[in-house]
Amino acid sequence: MIPSILPTYSRAPMNFVKGEGCWLIEADGRRFLDLGAGIAVNVLGHAHPELTAALTRQAETLWHVSNLYNIDQQQELADRLTEASFADTVFFTNSGTEACELAVKMARKYWSDKGEDRTEIIAFTGAFHGRSTAAIAASGAEKMVKGFGPLLPGFKQVAFGDHDALRAAITDTTCAVMLEPVQGEGGILPVPDQCLKGLRDLCDETGTLLIFDEVQCGVGRTGKLFAHEWAGVAPDIMMVAKGIGGGFPLGAVLATEEAAAGMTLGTHGSTYGGNPLACAVGNAVMRIVAEPAFLDEVNRKAGALRQKLEGLVAAHPDVFESVRGSGLMIGLKCKRPNAEVVQAGFANEVIVVPAADNVVRLLPPLNISDADIDEALVRLDRTAASLKTD
Ligand SMILES: *Cc1c(COP(=O)(O)O)cnc(C)c1O
Repeated sequence: MIPSILPTYSRAPMNFVKGEGCWLIEADGRRFLDLGAGIAVNVLGHAHPELTAALTRQAETLWHVSNLYNIDQQQELADRLTEASFADTVFFTNSGTEACELAVKMARKYWSDKGEDRTEIIAFTGAFHGRSTAAIAASGAEKMVKGFGPLLPGFKQVAFGDHDALRAAITDTTCAVMLEPVQGEGGILPVPDQCLKGLRDLCDETGTLLIFDEVQCGVGRTGKLFAHEWAGVAPDIMMVAKGIGGGFPLGAVLATEEAAAGMTLGTHGSTYGGNPLACAVGNAVMRIVAEPAFLDEVNRKAGALRQKLEGLVAAHPDVFESVRGSGLMIGLKCKRPNAEVVQAGFANEVIVVPAADNVVRLLPPLNISDADIDEALVRLDRTAASLKTD
Protein backbone atom coordinates (compact mmCIF):
# COMPACT_ATOMS: atom_id res chain seq x y z
CA MET A 1 0.00 0.00 0.00
CA ILE A 2 1.29 3.43 -0.86
CA PRO A 3 2.33 5.50 2.18
CA SER A 4 0.21 8.55 2.90
CA ILE A 5 3.27 10.66 2.03
CA LEU A 6 4.17 10.10 -1.63
CA PRO A 7 7.34 8.02 -1.30
CA THR A 8 9.76 10.04 -3.47
CA TYR A 9 12.27 10.48 -0.63
CA SER A 10 14.33 7.98 1.27
CA ARG A 11 14.13 9.35 4.81
CA ALA A 12 16.49 8.80 7.71
CA PRO A 13 14.70 7.50 10.83
CA MET A 14 14.87 10.74 12.82
CA ASN A 15 11.99 12.93 13.93
CA PHE A 16 13.37 16.30 14.87
CA VAL A 17 11.12 18.19 17.22
CA LYS A 18 13.20 21.26 18.00
CA GLY A 19 16.07 23.32 16.63
CA GLU A 20 18.50 25.59 18.48
CA GLY A 21 21.29 27.31 16.56
CA CYS A 22 23.30 24.57 14.85
CA TRP A 23 21.54 21.81 16.79
CA LEU A 24 18.57 19.63 15.98
CA ILE A 25 16.90 17.75 18.80
CA GLU A 26 15.29 14.40 18.15
CA ALA A 27 12.02 13.25 19.72
CA ASP A 28 14.01 10.91 21.98
CA GLY A 29 16.19 13.81 23.20
CA ARG A 30 19.35 13.10 21.19
CA ARG A 31 21.10 16.28 19.96
CA PHE A 32 22.45 16.30 16.42
CA LEU A 33 24.96 18.85 15.17
CA ASP A 34 23.38 20.11 11.96
CA LEU A 35 25.99 20.68 9.25
CA GLY A 36 23.35 20.46 6.52
CA ALA A 37 21.11 23.35 7.58
CA GLY A 38 18.13 21.97 5.68
CA ILE A 39 20.30 21.93 2.54
CA ALA A 40 21.79 25.43 2.84
CA VAL A 41 18.49 26.92 4.00
CA ASN A 42 18.90 27.69 7.73
CA VAL A 43 21.65 30.28 7.15
CA LEU A 44 21.21 31.66 10.67
CA GLY A 45 20.64 28.29 12.29
CA HIS A 46 17.42 27.16 13.93
CA ALA A 47 15.12 29.47 15.87
CA HIS A 48 17.28 32.56 15.45
CA PRO A 49 15.72 35.14 17.81
CA GLU A 50 15.65 37.97 15.23
CA LEU A 51 14.04 35.76 12.60
CA THR A 52 11.54 34.40 15.10
CA ALA A 53 10.71 37.95 16.21
CA ALA A 54 10.30 39.19 12.62
CA LEU A 55 8.03 36.27 11.74
CA THR A 56 5.94 36.51 14.92
CA ARG A 57 5.53 40.26 14.67
CA GLN A 58 4.38 39.90 11.07
CA ALA A 59 2.09 36.98 11.92
CA GLU A 60 0.36 39.09 14.53
CA THR A 61 -0.19 41.90 12.02
CA LEU A 62 -0.77 40.62 8.51
CA TRP A 63 -0.05 37.22 6.98
CA HIS A 64 -1.02 37.55 3.41
CA VAL A 65 -2.28 39.96 0.84
CA SER A 66 -2.06 39.28 -2.85
CA ASN A 67 0.21 40.99 -5.32
CA LEU A 68 -2.80 42.99 -6.45
CA TYR A 69 -1.77 45.45 -3.70
CA ASN A 70 1.41 47.14 -2.55
CA ILE A 71 3.31 45.04 -0.02
CA ASP A 72 5.69 47.16 2.08
CA GLN A 73 7.77 44.20 3.29
CA GLN A 74 8.25 43.10 -0.33
CA GLN A 75 9.26 46.60 -1.41
CA GLU A 76 11.81 46.77 1.41
CA LEU A 77 13.32 43.41 0.49
CA ALA A 78 13.47 44.29 -3.21
CA ASP A 79 15.28 47.52 -2.34
CA ARG A 80 17.73 45.67 -0.10
CA LEU A 81 18.47 43.10 -2.82
CA THR A 82 18.91 45.62 -5.63
CA GLU A 83 21.09 47.84 -3.44
CA ALA A 84 23.29 44.88 -2.49
CA SER A 85 23.65 43.36 -5.97
CA PHE A 86 24.02 43.94 -9.71
CA ALA A 87 20.25 43.81 -10.11
CA ASP A 88 17.78 46.59 -10.88
CA THR A 89 14.61 44.61 -10.27
CA VAL A 90 13.32 41.57 -8.36
CA PHE A 91 10.40 39.13 -8.64
CA PHE A 92 9.67 36.99 -5.57
CA THR A 93 8.83 33.30 -5.73
CA ASN A 94 8.30 30.54 -3.16
CA SER A 95 11.17 28.31 -4.24
CA GLY A 96 14.26 27.90 -6.35
CA THR A 97 12.36 25.89 -8.93
CA GLU A 98 9.91 28.73 -9.46
CA ALA A 99 12.82 31.11 -9.80
CA CYS A 100 14.19 28.84 -12.54
CA GLU A 101 10.86 28.93 -14.36
CA LEU A 102 10.84 32.72 -14.38
CA ALA A 103 14.51 32.97 -15.38
CA VAL A 104 13.73 30.82 -18.43
CA LYS A 105 10.63 32.83 -19.30
CA MET A 106 12.41 36.15 -18.82
CA ALA A 107 15.33 35.20 -21.05
CA ARG A 108 13.10 33.90 -23.82
CA LYS A 109 10.79 36.92 -23.65
CA TYR A 110 13.78 39.23 -23.93
CA TRP A 111 14.68 37.84 -27.34
CA SER A 112 11.10 37.41 -28.47
CA ASP A 113 10.45 41.10 -27.87
CA LYS A 114 13.52 41.91 -29.93
CA GLY A 115 12.01 39.87 -32.76
CA GLU A 116 14.86 37.38 -32.68
CA ASP A 117 14.49 33.62 -32.77
CA ARG A 118 16.80 32.92 -29.84
CA THR A 119 15.14 30.36 -27.57
CA GLU A 120 17.82 27.81 -26.75
CA ILE A 121 19.20 27.75 -23.22
CA ILE A 122 22.56 26.12 -22.55
CA ALA A 123 23.12 24.44 -19.20
CA PHE A 124 25.80 22.10 -17.88
CA THR A 125 26.21 18.45 -17.02
CA GLY A 126 25.81 17.86 -13.30
CA ALA A 127 23.65 20.97 -12.93
CA PHE A 128 20.63 21.12 -10.67
CA HIS A 129 17.99 23.80 -11.15
CA GLY A 130 14.94 22.18 -9.56
CA ARG A 131 12.36 19.50 -10.37
CA SER A 132 9.82 21.26 -12.57
CA THR A 133 9.56 20.18 -16.18
CA ALA A 134 11.64 23.18 -17.29
CA ALA A 135 14.25 22.69 -14.57
CA ILE A 136 14.74 18.99 -15.32
CA ALA A 137 14.97 19.76 -19.03
CA ALA A 138 17.72 22.26 -18.20
CA SER A 139 19.68 19.70 -16.20
CA GLY A 140 19.04 16.87 -18.64
CA ALA A 141 20.20 14.28 -16.10
CA GLU A 142 18.84 10.82 -16.89
CA LYS A 143 17.78 10.13 -13.30
CA MET A 144 15.64 13.28 -13.22
CA VAL A 145 14.12 13.23 -16.71
CA LYS A 146 13.48 9.51 -17.31
CA GLY A 147 9.78 8.86 -17.83
CA PHE A 148 8.77 12.51 -17.74
CA GLY A 149 8.96 13.29 -21.43
CA PRO A 150 8.23 14.97 -23.69
CA LEU A 151 10.47 17.54 -22.03
CA LEU A 152 10.25 21.27 -22.52
CA PRO A 153 12.25 21.79 -25.70
CA GLY A 154 15.08 24.26 -26.18
CA PHE A 155 17.73 23.09 -23.71
CA LYS A 156 21.19 21.83 -24.44
CA GLN A 157 23.84 20.55 -22.01
CA VAL A 158 27.54 21.22 -22.31
CA ALA A 159 30.18 19.33 -20.29
CA PHE A 160 30.82 21.22 -17.04
CA GLY A 161 34.12 23.07 -17.27
CA ASP A 162 34.58 22.73 -21.04
CA HIS A 163 34.95 26.31 -22.28
CA ASP A 164 35.70 25.30 -25.87
CA ALA A 165 32.60 23.11 -26.03
CA LEU A 166 30.56 26.01 -24.68
CA ARG A 167 31.98 28.38 -27.26
CA ALA A 168 31.09 25.90 -29.99
CA ALA A 169 27.58 25.38 -28.56
CA ILE A 170 26.60 29.06 -28.66
CA THR A 171 24.88 29.85 -31.96
CA ASP A 172 22.60 32.58 -33.27
CA THR A 173 19.65 30.76 -31.69
CA THR A 174 21.17 30.73 -28.19
CA CYS A 175 19.06 32.65 -25.74
CA ALA A 176 21.00 32.25 -22.48
CA VAL A 177 23.61 30.27 -20.60
CA MET A 178 22.49 29.06 -17.16
CA LEU A 179 24.81 27.80 -14.44
CA GLU A 180 25.55 27.52 -10.75
CA PRO A 181 28.74 29.44 -9.85
CA VAL A 182 29.31 26.58 -7.39
CA GLN A 183 27.53 23.37 -8.37
CA GLY A 184 25.77 22.06 -5.27
CA GLU A 185 23.92 18.80 -5.97
CA GLY A 186 26.59 18.06 -8.59
CA GLY A 187 29.17 17.61 -5.83
CA ILE A 188 30.31 21.07 -4.59
CA LEU A 189 32.20 22.12 -7.69
CA PRO A 190 33.19 25.80 -7.80
CA VAL A 191 33.57 27.32 -11.25
CA PRO A 192 37.03 28.97 -11.21
CA ASP A 193 36.96 32.78 -11.27
CA GLN A 194 38.80 32.82 -14.60
CA CYS A 195 36.10 30.60 -16.14
CA LEU A 196 33.31 32.86 -14.91
CA LYS A 197 35.14 35.84 -16.40
CA GLY A 198 35.63 33.96 -19.67
CA LEU A 199 31.97 32.99 -19.65
CA ARG A 200 30.89 36.59 -19.14
CA ASP A 201 33.13 37.67 -22.03
CA LEU A 202 31.73 34.92 -24.25
CA CYS A 203 28.17 35.98 -23.45
CA ASP A 204 29.02 39.63 -24.15
CA GLU A 205 30.63 38.76 -27.50
CA THR A 206 27.63 36.75 -28.61
CA GLY A 207 24.91 38.84 -26.95
CA THR A 208 23.83 35.79 -24.92
CA LEU A 209 22.12 36.36 -21.57
CA LEU A 210 23.95 34.97 -18.56
CA ILE A 211 21.84 33.38 -15.82
CA PHE A 212 23.44 32.43 -12.51
CA ASP A 213 21.63 29.96 -10.27
CA GLU A 214 22.67 31.04 -6.77
CA VAL A 215 19.88 29.15 -5.04
CA GLN A 216 22.43 27.13 -3.05
CA CYS A 217 25.65 29.19 -3.23
CA GLY A 218 24.08 32.62 -2.66
CA VAL A 219 23.11 34.59 0.45
CA GLY A 220 26.50 34.60 2.15
CA ARG A 221 27.21 30.89 1.74
CA THR A 222 30.62 31.39 0.07
CA GLY A 223 31.63 34.39 2.17
CA LYS A 224 30.34 36.97 -0.31
CA LEU A 225 26.66 37.89 -0.38
CA PHE A 226 26.57 36.23 -3.82
CA ALA A 227 29.18 33.74 -5.02
CA HIS A 228 29.78 35.40 -8.39
CA GLU A 229 31.18 38.47 -6.60
CA TRP A 230 34.43 36.54 -6.03
CA ALA A 231 35.02 36.57 -9.80
CA GLY A 232 34.11 40.23 -10.20
CA VAL A 233 31.53 39.47 -12.87
CA ALA A 234 27.76 39.83 -12.80
CA PRO A 235 25.00 37.89 -14.52
CA ASP A 236 22.02 39.40 -16.33
CA ILE A 237 19.56 37.25 -14.39
CA MET A 238 20.03 35.44 -11.08
CA MET A 239 17.98 32.85 -9.21
CA VAL A 240 17.98 32.95 -5.43
CA ALA A 241 16.09 30.85 -2.83
CA LYS A 242 17.10 28.53 0.05
CA GLY A 243 19.08 30.86 2.38
CA ILE A 244 17.14 34.03 1.58
CA GLY A 245 14.17 32.82 3.65
CA GLY A 246 16.28 31.31 6.45
CA GLY A 247 13.74 28.47 6.60
CA PHE A 248 10.64 30.27 5.41
CA PRO A 249 9.81 29.36 1.78
CA LEU A 250 11.08 32.28 -0.32
CA GLY A 251 12.85 32.65 -3.62
CA ALA A 252 13.59 35.45 -6.04
CA VAL A 253 14.71 36.29 -9.53
CA LEU A 254 17.03 39.29 -9.72
CA ALA A 255 17.71 40.94 -13.05
CA THR A 256 19.11 43.96 -14.80
CA GLU A 257 16.64 46.42 -16.25
CA GLU A 258 17.73 45.36 -19.74
CA ALA A 259 17.28 41.61 -19.18
CA ALA A 260 13.89 42.15 -17.52
CA ALA A 261 12.62 44.38 -20.31
CA GLY A 262 10.20 41.79 -21.67
CA MET A 263 8.46 41.13 -18.37
CA THR A 264 5.75 43.71 -18.71
CA LEU A 265 2.31 43.99 -17.12
CA GLY A 266 0.55 40.62 -16.92
CA THR A 267 3.45 38.49 -18.21
CA HIS A 268 4.07 36.67 -14.91
CA GLY A 269 2.54 36.25 -11.49
CA SER A 270 2.41 34.35 -8.23
CA THR A 271 -0.25 34.13 -5.55
CA TYR A 272 2.11 33.73 -2.61
CA GLY A 273 5.39 35.03 -4.04
CA GLY A 274 6.73 37.83 -1.84
CA ASN A 275 3.92 37.81 0.69
CA PRO A 276 4.29 39.78 3.95
CA LEU A 277 5.29 36.79 6.12
CA ALA A 278 7.99 35.57 3.73
CA CYS A 279 9.39 39.05 3.12
CA ALA A 280 9.41 39.98 6.81
CA VAL A 281 11.72 37.01 7.36
CA GLY A 282 13.71 37.75 4.19
CA ASN A 283 14.37 41.28 5.43
CA ALA A 284 15.56 39.96 8.79
CA VAL A 285 17.93 37.54 7.02
CA MET A 286 19.29 40.28 4.78
CA ARG A 287 19.72 42.73 7.67
CA ILE A 288 22.14 40.26 9.24
CA VAL A 289 23.78 38.40 6.37
CA ALA A 290 24.46 41.37 4.07
CA GLU A 291 26.54 43.11 6.77
CA PRO A 292 30.25 43.15 5.81
CA ALA A 293 31.24 42.21 9.37
CA PHE A 294 28.99 39.13 9.21
CA LEU A 295 30.52 38.05 5.90
CA ASP A 296 34.03 38.60 7.32
CA GLU A 297 33.13 36.15 10.07
CA VAL A 298 31.84 33.63 7.51
CA ASN A 299 35.20 33.84 5.76
CA ARG A 300 37.17 33.49 8.98
CA LYS A 301 35.14 30.47 10.09
CA ALA A 302 35.28 28.94 6.62
CA GLY A 303 39.08 29.21 6.70
CA ALA A 304 39.27 27.61 10.13
CA LEU A 305 36.85 24.81 9.25
CA ARG A 306 38.55 24.13 5.95
CA GLN A 307 41.94 23.80 7.64
CA LYS A 308 40.57 21.39 10.23
CA LEU A 309 38.88 19.35 7.49
CA GLU A 310 42.19 19.04 5.63
CA GLY A 311 43.50 17.48 8.84
CA LEU A 312 40.49 15.16 9.04
CA VAL A 313 41.07 13.97 5.47
CA ALA A 314 44.78 13.44 6.17
CA ALA A 315 43.94 11.45 9.31
CA HIS A 316 41.43 9.21 7.51
CA PRO A 317 42.82 8.59 4.02
CA ASP A 318 40.79 5.38 3.68
CA VAL A 319 37.49 7.28 4.22
CA PHE A 320 38.11 10.68 2.62
CA GLU A 321 39.97 11.76 -0.48
CA SER A 322 39.93 15.57 -0.49
CA VAL A 323 38.19 18.79 0.58
CA ARG A 324 36.74 21.29 -1.90
CA GLY A 325 34.29 24.13 -2.10
CA SER A 326 33.98 27.80 -1.32
CA GLY A 327 33.34 29.44 2.04
CA LEU A 328 30.88 27.40 4.11
CA MET A 329 29.84 25.38 1.06
CA ILE A 330 32.19 22.47 1.49
CA GLY A 331 32.44 19.05 -0.12
CA LEU A 332 34.33 16.08 1.25
CA LYS A 333 35.13 13.74 -1.59
CA CYS A 334 34.82 10.25 -0.11
CA LYS A 335 36.59 6.98 -0.72
CA ARG A 336 33.93 5.03 1.14
CA PRO A 337 30.43 5.32 -0.39
CA ASN A 338 29.05 8.71 0.68
CA ALA A 339 25.79 7.13 1.84
CA GLU A 340 27.79 5.11 4.40
CA VAL A 341 29.52 8.25 5.63
CA VAL A 342 26.18 10.05 6.03
CA GLN A 343 24.77 7.04 7.94
CA ALA A 344 27.82 6.83 10.18
CA GLY A 345 27.41 10.56 10.81
CA PHE A 346 23.86 9.96 12.05
CA ALA A 347 25.15 7.29 14.42
CA ASN A 348 27.59 9.90 15.77
CA GLU A 349 24.92 12.61 15.92
CA VAL A 350 26.29 14.84 13.19
CA ILE A 351 24.33 15.67 10.05
CA VAL A 352 25.95 15.95 6.64
CA VAL A 353 24.26 15.79 3.23
CA PRO A 354 25.19 13.60 0.26
CA ALA A 355 25.86 15.04 -3.20
CA ALA A 356 26.82 13.57 -6.57
CA ASP A 357 30.38 12.43 -7.33
CA ASN A 358 30.55 10.54 -4.01
CA VAL A 359 30.73 13.73 -1.98
CA VAL A 360 29.28 14.60 1.41
CA ARG A 361 28.34 18.26 1.79
CA LEU A 362 28.87 20.51 4.76
CA LEU A 363 26.53 23.50 4.55
CA PRO A 364 26.40 24.62 8.18
CA PRO A 365 24.51 27.64 9.45
CA LEU A 366 26.64 30.67 8.52
CA ASN A 367 26.67 31.83 12.15
CA ILE A 368 28.08 28.53 13.44
CA SER A 369 30.16 29.18 16.57
CA ASP A 370 33.83 28.32 16.92
CA ALA A 371 32.87 25.84 19.64
CA ASP A 372 30.42 24.11 17.27
CA ILE A 373 33.12 23.97 14.58
CA ASP A 374 35.38 22.19 17.08
CA GLU A 375 32.54 19.85 18.01
CA ALA A 376 31.89 19.17 14.31
CA LEU A 377 35.46 17.99 13.90
CA VAL A 378 35.22 15.75 16.97
CA ARG A 379 32.07 14.13 15.61
CA LEU A 380 33.35 13.82 12.04
CA ASP A 381 36.55 12.28 13.33
CA ARG A 382 34.53 9.77 15.35
CA THR A 383 32.38 9.12 12.27
CA ALA A 384 35.41 8.39 10.11
CA ALA A 385 36.99 6.22 12.82
CA SER A 386 33.79 4.16 13.07
CA LEU A 387 34.00 3.42 9.35
CA LYS A 388 37.63 2.40 9.56
CA THR A 389 37.04 -0.32 12.13
CA ASP A 390 34.12 -1.85 10.22
C1 LIG B 1 17.75 23.55 -4.36
C2 LIG B 1 18.12 24.12 -5.68
C3 LIG B 1 17.15 24.49 -6.63
C4 LIG B 1 15.68 24.21 -6.42
O1 LIG B 1 15.17 24.92 -5.34
P1 LIG B 1 13.77 24.45 -4.67
O2 LIG B 1 13.53 25.52 -3.64
O3 LIG B 1 13.99 23.09 -4.12
O4 LIG B 1 12.75 24.48 -5.72
C5 LIG B 1 17.57 25.09 -7.78
N1 LIG B 1 18.87 25.33 -8.01
C6 LIG B 1 19.83 24.99 -7.14
C7 LIG B 1 21.26 25.31 -7.44
C8 LIG B 1 19.49 24.36 -5.94
O5 LIG B 1 20.45 23.99 -5.08
